[in-house]
Amino acid sequence: METMEKKEIKSLTLAELKAEMEQLGEKPFRAAQLYEWMHRKLSRGYGEMSNIPAAMKAKCGERYEYTALKTVTVQKSAVDGTKKYLFALSDGNMVESVWMRYKHGNSVCVSSQVGCRMGCRFCASTLDGLVRNLTPAEMLDQIYAIALETGERVSNVVVMGSGEPLDNYENLLRFLALLTDENGLHISQRNVTVSTCGIVPKMRSLAQEKLQITLALSLHAATDEKRRELMPIANQYSLEELIPCCAYYFEQTGRRITFEYSLVRHVNDSAEDAKTLAALIRGLNCHVNLIPVNPVKERVFVQSERQSVEAFAALLQKKGINATIRREMGRDIDGACGQLRRRFLED
Ligand code: SAH
Repeated sequence: METMEKKEIKSLTLAELKAEMEQLGEKPFRAAQLYEWMHRKLSRGYGEMSNIPAAMKAKCGERYEYTALKTVTVQKSAVDGTKKYLFALSDGNMVESVWMRYKHGNSVCVSSQVGCRMGCRFCASTLDGLVRNLTPAEMLDQIYAIALETGERVSNVVVMGSGEPLDNYENLLRFLALLTDENGLHISQRNVTVSTCGIVPKMRSLAQEKLQITLALSLHAATDEKRRELMPIANQYSLEELIPCCAYYFEQTGRRITFEYSLVRHVNDSAEDAKTLAALIRGLNCHVNLIPVNPVKERVFVQSERQSVEAFAALLQKKGINATIRREMGRDIDGACGQLRRRFLED
């Protein structure tokens, strides 16, 4: 007989938890207490929940799964203090997350899937395809585990780790709701960025949610031809659909789009490429983030030279486009998405 999977108690909203507790014959205020232990005090289990009766803990333990990721390794960058975490999930799968310290606060980069099925040519996360989606609790707990380990407040969250968040849409929305909930960590929506390779219908749905989060679009090329060489998703959605979809996101939310553009030497980093890009996004309320591509062992792509990166940025700026060069963090600790997990799986 197939066993029904247990619900994860940390994936439930406060309203749902209240309904569940009622079903268990518990008072509604118990749900608020539990929620506070899980999402504010960041408890790793029921043990420390001192104001919850033992019988109720036992019932919850039987009925729900309590998600608490296990830290497998932590690497700390000697250069900038960036920390990279490898976490084990309850089924033995592993995901990685990154903690970065910036002037404006601490930022955590979370993974949304184990592996990825998008197949971007320069990315390490997708090399073995998609294993499975992460649950809302598994996404949240990357942040909780890091907040506990560092002992510092997390003020920004970017969904830019392994996986395609819009390929795990329902779980992503629930994760965002829990993350920004005033009864939990209460991270401001404005301090959350979700990065996508450009799944147009899901971007439209997200726009209609009218959240105040930032949407980052991984563009990486300014023509369909070049983009298709780098990102298989470009075969499904052309720039002719994608760019108006970005405009739509701004119309619906008032939030400026971020374009991610990883510079690959002799592939997408010429003056011609910069001009084509400027023409493509002219008039859009946007910001361009330029990132020298991170070399991945299994891939042949080479980083653009510093000079080309700077020239590329200057050209965009001259055309009135807001462009910055992203500071690379944690290069000495398998910085690029999916590299730490891969190294672990290979060992
Ligand atoms: N699937 C989402 C989010 C994960 S990747 C997306 O595609 O946006 C986060 C960002 O890192 C994306 O812009 C992605 O294209 C980029 N990226 C992946 N591998 C990289 C590499 N080796 N060097 C530079 N950027 C990379």
